[in-house]
Amino acid sequence: MTDTIAAISTPTGEGGISVIRVSGADSIQKVGRLFAFKGKLEDVSSHTVHYGHIIQPSDRERVEEALVTVMKGPRSFTTEDVVEISCHGGIISVKKVLDLVLEQGVRLAEPGEFTKRAYLNGRIDLTQAEAVIDLIRAKSDRAYKIALRQVEGTLSKHVKLLRHRLVELMAHIEVNIDYPEHDVEELTTAFIQDKCGQGIADLNRLLHTAEQGKILREGIVTAIVGRPNVGKSSLLNALAQENKAIVTDIPGTTRDVIEEYVNLNGIPLKLLDTAGLRETEDIVERIGVERSRIALTDADLILLVVNGNEPLHEEEKQLIAQVKEKQSIIIVNKSDLPAAVELSYLEANVPPERIVKMSVKEEEGLDRLGQAIGVLFFGGQLETNDMTYVSNVRHIHLLKQAKQALEEARKAADERIPIDMIQIDIRHAWESLGELVGDSIGESLIDQIFSQFCLGK
Ligand code: GDP
Ligand code: ZN
Repeated sequence: MTDTIAAISTPTGEGGISVIRVSGADSIQKVGRLFAFKGKLEDVSSHTVHYGHIIQPSDRERVEEALVTVMKGPRSFTTEDVVEISCHGGIISVKKVLDLVLEQGVRLAEPGEFTKRAYLNGRIDLTQAEAVIDLIRAKSDRAYKIALRQVEGTLSKHVKLLRHRLVELMAHIEVNIDYPEHDVEELTTAFIQDKCGQGIADLNRLLHTAEQGKILREGIVTAIVGRPNVGKSSLLNALAQENKAIVTDIPGTTRDVIEEYVNLNGIPLKLLDTAGLRETEDIVERIGVERSRIALTDADLILLVVNGNEPLHEEEKQLIAQVKEKQSIIIVNKSDLPAAVELSYLEANVPPERIVKMSVKEEEGLDRLGQAIGVLFFGGQLETNDMTYVSNVRHIHLLKQAKQALEEARKAADERIPIDMIQIDIRHAWESLGELVGDSIGESLIDQIFSQFCLGK
């Protein structure tokens, strides 16, 4: 038995609509006391929406106009009875409605508690629960899509398939141990090595996505460097401009996130030291020396801006020498003015896909910059839609653990170690993956194995 909980489920601030979610056995009855409409909330059918007013129960005074949605368990997010109250966005009125709900003996939910209930009630597995949290924190369209895909369970599907194959392998081995006289395909070293090798390859593929997933979640740490007056501040403003509309639509983002994060073609950039760029007067030594030094050590990506309308300065040539070994792009700005920069010098130093001509003033070239960054970080392969990106530290750890166990199994097979010893390593891999999807506890390996393998054959 759990109590009934409530919380505001939409980001606070000025939004069009705010939603208060209430979950638990008493949710319909308790919200019913506060909601005046033509009907009785306890009598409505599941998954219906009702228009009416939230009222103060003592004097029946109207507090808010509201739409109330009823979703009866188990067909709800938490599998409990869930009521969602949608009302006008203003923080004061939403807070007032929430207070009224709490006055009915409903408890304020802890962060993540709805999701936790969904997990505990078996509606979603652990990777999905974790993805919901990522979804709330997602900083870009792509990070959002990755999290969404994980909520839908693609990582779980991959991992479950892998576990299934390991169980099959263990079943073969088990039969060989327990029933050596049984008429089964003889276990060869090559067979185990082959199966372990396949598993390792699958795990490597998943682990490889982790790097990209991390970038998409956390943003590419980006520094904009260059001489005074080349257009750095203008570029920053252009990026931030593009960004405002997108970021404010994503739940959980705030004003200071907008300051720091920009979103270019769906790739989140985390800008370093934006305060320095916003100063009206650029401090020369800061730009020339200190900024580029900080950028070289801290940034994943360096955007070196030069003025295309002028020949390169000596200090710019030094900057090019410094950044060319790093992930960097040279932005040849002010392309609306006559070209005077030595393109041949640039091309001799960095590959053409890392030189982007643009005019920040005319808002020309931002798309190309986005594409260039995409190529640099993702080899231009970011669009694949069925891709699962592993992005959670716990998942990465468990995948690595499983991979290591399979590597040990393969090595043991190499060294002709008895197969019941090899079985232990394979079992470890299977357990790590089980922990990942959260269902190894209480699961009997033997039951699993024998449900997979027909001994009566
Ligand atoms: P910063 O010192 O590198 O931050 O450069 P600013 O962004 O402050 O820009 C310096 C000057 O160059 C300003 O007058 C901008 O309006 C101008 N500027 C920036 N980008 C362009 C561009 O693409 N074309 C032209 N013609 N002028 C630009
Ligand atoms: Zn500036």
